[in-house]
Amino acid sequence: MTEPACRVCKCTEFNACEEGCSWVKTEPGSPPLCSACSGTPKDVVEVCRRVRSTFRRLGIVTDTAGVANVALGALLKRVEARVKAEANNPDPSWGGR
Ligand SMILES: [Zn+2]
Ligand SMILES: [Zn+2]
Repeated sequence: MTEPACRVCKCTEFNACEEGCSWVKTEPGSPPLCSACSGTPKDVVEVCRRVRSTFRRLGIVTDTAGVANVALGALLKRVEARVKAEANNPDPSWGGR
């Protein structure tokens, strides 16, 4: 490994998630994790709400559903990948579970 990559979605410093992300603090010795993958499903719902209220504030009504669907799709993909990764947990250094 030449550069840190997110342990869930494998994004890197130079290839961030489509919706944008940054590194979040992880426990010492555990693999990197990006902000897009750090949220719980509850956080995702919160993000979706924020996106929607932003649209409303900007007065964007037309095509909002289409844009939101793209954003929601990307988020859901991320959450699903994380849930799957945690279920398998193939990396013993990851929390030692
Ligand atoms: Zn990630
Ligand atoms: Zn990312």
